[in-house]
Amino acid sequence: MKSFKYLLIIALVGCATGLSYKRATNPKALSQSEAEYRAQSLTDISYKMEISFEKEAEDYKGKQNISFKLGKVYPLRIDFVEGEIGEVVVNGAQMVDISYNKARLTIPASALKLGVNEIKIAFSHKFSNRGAGIHRFQDPKDGRIYTYTDFEPFDANKFAPFFDQPDLKADYQLLVRAPREWTVITSRYADSVLKKGDHKVWNFPKSAIFSTYIFSLHAGPYKVWTDVYVDEEKGQRIPLDIYTRQSMAKYFEPEVKEWFEITKQGFEFFQDFFGTDYPYKKYAQLLVPEFNSGAMENVAAVTFNERAIHRTKASYSERRRRSYTILHEMAHMWFGNLVTMKWWDNLWLNESFATFMAYLALEQNTVFKDSFESFYARTKQWAYWNDDLVITHPILGEIENTDEAMLSFDGITYGKGASVLKQLYYYLGEENFKKGLKLYFDRHSEGNTVLADFFKAFEDVSKVELDSWVDQWLKTAGTNTARAEYECKEDKIVKFEIYQGFKKEHPYYRTHKTQVALLYKNKENGKLEVKETIKTEYAKERTLIEEMKDKACPTLAFINYKDFDFVHIQFSKKDLAAMKENLSMIEDDMIRLMSYNSLFDMVRNAKLSLRDYTEIIIPHLKKERNYNVADKGIQGLMGVITYLFSKEIEDEQLITKIEDFLWSQIKEVKNSEIKRQYFYAYLSVAHSKNALSQIEKVYLGKIKLEGVPIGMDQKWEMLRRLKIYDFGKVDQYVAELKKKDDSDRAKKSLLAIDATEGSLEVKKKWYQASLKKMSPYSLKEMGSALSSLFPASQMDLKKQMSGHFYSDLKKHMLDRQMRMQRLFVGSFIPAFCDEPSSEKLNEFIEANEDLPVGIMKSLKITLQENNRCIDLIY
Ligand SMILES: [Zn+2]
Repeated sequence: MKSFKYLLIIALVGCATGLSYKRATNPKALSQSEAEYRAQSLTDISYKMEISFEKEAEDYKGKQNISFKLGKVYPLRIDFVEGEIGEVVVNGAQMVDISYNKARLTIPASALKLGVNEIKIAFSHKFSNRGAGIHRFQDPKDGRIYTYTDFEPFDANKFAPFFDQPDLKADYQLLVRAPREWTVITSRYADSVLKKGDHKVWNFPKSAIFSTYIFSLHAGPYKVWTDVYVDEEKGQRIPLDIYTRQSMAKYFEPEVKEWFEITKQGFEFFQDFFGTDYPYKKYAQLLVPEFNSGAMENVAAVTFNERAIHRTKASYSERRRRSYTILHEMAHMWFGNLVTMKWWDNLWLNESFATFMAYLALEQNTVFKDSFESFYARTKQWAYWNDDLVITHPILGEIENTDEAMLSFDGITYGKGASVLKQLYYYLGEENFKKGLKLYFDRHSEGNTVLADFFKAFEDVSKVELDSWVDQWLKTAGTNTARAEYECKEDKIVKFEIYQGFKKEHPYYRTHKTQVALLYKNKENGKLEVKETIKTEYAKERTLIEEMKDKACPTLAFINYKDFDFVHIQFSKKDLAAMKENLSMIEDDMIRLMSYNSLFDMVRNAKLSLRDYTEIIIPHLKKERNYNVADKGIQGLMGVITYLFSKEIEDEQLITKIEDFLWSQIKEVKNSEIKRQYFYAYLSVAHSKNALSQIEKVYLGKIKLEGVPIGMDQKWEMLRRLKIYDFGKVDQYVAELKKKDDSDRAKKSLLAIDATEGSLEVKKKWYQASLKKMSPYSLKEMGSALSSLFPASQMDLKKQMSGHFYSDLKKHMLDRQMRMQRLFVGSFIPAFCDEPSSEKLNEFIEANEDLPVGIMKSLKITLQENNRCIDLIY
């Protein structure tokens, strides 16, 4: 049949009747109301794609064939950002002059009908060098080309035309033509792979049903390892694959065994805990270069940041970190992939859950039994930090469009959400928690949910009413403070109270479920031991804890024992004195860890001086043998040095004291994990001639540090440090090392070393480079350079640069990728720990409230941290 033609479709767009939704202000974004509107009438979506890859090409070609049912006919939006459109056929009719504004195709209502529709779109698109959509990477070592996709939250449409929103789930069928030596990976194995000249054609069967942001397609000459997860009882076999670049394979090889082991332990744990079998056919994990985040839970084809591969033997903490990531992504196969949030405002349902479950799986089913210590030390601190920022938000936030969705991958969604889930788990008990989850999966598999669905399942199994818990913890922002005050008479407690506080911006008292521990000094060995623990709750400004009456008067009372609460702990004068004096003698690792943390919080809140903090912790840290606790103390000392430079406090004596302490610990500590942390800290703060010279000697092998592996990555890091001060023969070392290491990591290290040189010309060069939209550098390369551009000791150079930052921000950054916008603000906007920079920043924010959300958020954080820095006490 001859196709009929449409003309001037553009005129119809936007003024057609039935447009009862609000568009996002950024034309490339999707608003919640547009998404809601579209979801009302669209069902039964199937995508059939043909994709053709060429090795040398900068773009790829494709055909998208979408079939779906319509319950209402109106001009239909299909998302496709920055592509090229060829022939479009709607229900058998070829369209000309189709409306395509580089963000969306609009199919006119007159071409659509009620019931089943079919749209065929021929398209092409450029590969990305920014990690969004389909990323193309050429390995400088061997010239091989690798591609992979990354789509969350709204980038599937940078790959192909889609209805790109989480509640329009679909199935996917693929035919991929790719160079012969490439492997093509998606959620299913190919049914057939046929050779055609120097290409192969991969024919993939129809997938399960899931959202567009977790669909994926990766292709390249990847190296593969295989294994299988077997559950004899269930008669279940899940094929497992891991892929890396060829040039990274030899570094990954020693780690393959543990990676598969954690994967299997994950399946064992989650299938049991969720009471629901793994819903897909196989499980692939790819480690890919230039990945923007830690990992992404694409259905059955997860991508990981290749930084998880270490070119020296991985340390315990590195292994624990990557094991956490493996389990986090796997938890998403159920939480996020099988059951998906309806819109991005419920992103926490995905992320908080995957975060909490991964830590639980680590603790209960792997060798990493101290995982909740690391949860507290890292993830939870991220949450506390975020929650104290002016830009904090309730866990259950409002997300108006996909730009805002991008910003909600933050410490609140991951860390605070996971922390309150930990509290819920404690509150309901493990059995109810598990039953609730099973019910949730039974009810909603392959569907989309909102908050109420999740809690309904828990309420149905536990009969506990959760409304007020949800209101207090998920719908309000800000962290409470809590402090124990107690009186003793004749060595017995006569009164024990918990005082709750809040910041004036978030005036809420909440119900906190917690455990109080009483610690007593053992007269024989001097240790502070937990002798009493009491489960309790406090909800008001002041709560009397009756059960404490008549207990022996403790040396220290600790009100968040085992860390189930989410609260800033403050200490009474008595407890603070006991803590400072006995820090290293506190027997419980977690309490010690939390105490170190509280002390540094006091520094940040201007309640303890940089100097006093250093004096207090060094003698205790010297004795510390727990990795997590030692790391917390080490991070604190690094923070002190950064602040000293930021405030331009020339206290060489204090800096040298910290340097000397770190160096002495590198020599003296036996535990190689802790030793490494001391070394890495030394490397990032070394400033005096003596310290730089020690680093040079380590680099040259004149000093051997037993237990600290020195590979290429550490060597580059040492040279970067030396370059900041142009120390010794650093340029010669760089030239020599370059000949030995031609990997992409070397390439990025060289960019960092170039940028970190203490010269105004170099800084200006990188500034100009960052302004160019069509950059020869990938986003990751630019990130390597910019993050090394102004180390703490080079703030004077930043001051010397002429001040076009603000006008350039408006001129050049508004339409850049959000990660680049934030990189620019973080690297260049002047914040010198002084009043003038705060005033200028504040003025700019107030005068430019319509800036893109990513930029605005970064500016506000910069201002707040600058003000905090001004207040710090020396
Ligand atoms: Zn996640």
